Amino acid sequence: MTELNSTITCPKCGFSKAEEMPTDACQWFYECTGCGELLKPLKGDCCVFCSYADIPCPPIQESLVAGGVRPIAKQGQSNNKNGGGCCG
Ligand SMILES: [Zn+2]
Repeated sequence: MTELNSTITCPKCGFSKAEEMPTDACQWFYECTGCGELLKPLKGDCCVFCSYADIPCPPIQESLVAGGVRPIAKQGQSNNKNGGGCCG
């Protein structure tokens, strides 16, 4: 089961908002509705949801499932670099 709703949190102002993720594309940019900051993925992440949200994007969730890891919120910042990515 792929979770499509992810709560993204702005690293600048801390504002968080639940967003529905697209399943057919990665969202590279996200404009914070709190402060207007334009968020971009961190190095090694494929989309803003992987970097700033509690649930990674659908392709990453699926790859985690395939790898035997539960598709839940990531536990650590440096533990999510499987080299795959979903935009490849
Ligand atoms: Zn913000």
